[in-house]
Amino acid sequence: MKVSIVSLTCCAGCVSSLLNASDALFEVLFGDFEIVYSPTFVDLKEVPEVDLAIVEGGVRTEADEKLIREVRAKSKILVALGICATHGGVTSLGNVTSLKKLLEKEYFLLDTSKLPELEDLMYPICNFVDIDYYIPGCPPMPFLIVHTLKSIVSGKPPVRHQSVVCTECHRKIIAAKLDRLYGIYEKEADPVLCLVSQGFICLGSMTREGCGAPCPRAGFTCFGCRGPPDSLMYRSRDMYAFLIKVISRRTSIPEETIRGELYRNPFIFHTFIFSKFERSKARERVI
Ligand code: SF4
Ligand code: SF4
Ligand code: SF4
Repeated sequence: MKVSIVSLTCCAGCVSSLLNASDALFEVLFGDFEIVYSPTFVDLKEVPEVDLAIVEGGVRTEADEKLIREVRAKSKILVALGICATHGGVTSLGNVTSLKKLLEKEYFLLDTSKLPELEDLMYPICNFVDIDYYIPGCPPMPFLIVHTLKSIVSGKPPVRHQSVVCTECHRKIIAAKLDRLYGIYEKEADPVLCLVSQGFICLGSMTREGCGAPCPRAGFTCFGCRGPPDSLMYRSRDMYAFLIKVISRRTSIPEETIRGELYRNPFIFHTFIFSKFERSKARERVI
């Protein structure tokens, strides 16, 4: 199977995660894959026709847009790898302000003539092309990438993860009685109880499962890097309204108090909310 690995605007962490798959990666790379295009592995400038394209990163420059359209036209199957590609992710945090303000006030760039032509916003790739499979995560876990690629190679539909991170987390959920919420560094977390039941803002209840819940297992809150689960992918479902209800039920803190805290608390990473992600397009294809 001829494969291209393409990087748009991103930190390149998703392809690094693929490389972290170790032995399992070698099975895929040397068994079924012939990588014919990849800035990481192969020195080839022209985008070739391939069976499978794996794309990390989103569209911030006009060059990104041109490249993703060309890659789509020349690929039988296209996999969006990582939340920058699937939903906008961390790289779309710049969308909170206008491009002009972003360059002038945040980057202090008064002479922008040397920059590549930029899009008005950072976009996930589904705003420009059809995607066959979405593998969200920042980055997606190596085992998740390899399982998905193996399924695609063998012609089977990849296993979809439709529920939420809480279902993979060992912590015990209780209805506690708390006065306030806490930042993750404000007090020591109990190793057994659900982090939300302790007043920490963990996004596990509004985040797609499939990562194995490594963050709450390690005592850190889930920051939502797998994006919303199937049940929250419909436009009519307000993800934050859902989260506020969950936190209120597990802490007894009034919903109004929690609503204010969500935007004040520096430990909340509102990553996938800022992109112009077309949620309806992704139904049934998110892994
Ligand atoms: S999803 Fe995360 S790890 Fe992957 S490219 Fe984007 S910022 Fe980097
Ligand atoms: S909210 Fe977080 S800590 Fe609590 S069960 Fe869900 S993933 Fe685990
Ligand atoms: S627990 Fe949450 S933040 Fe951590 S890898 Fe899973 S989805 Fe991402």
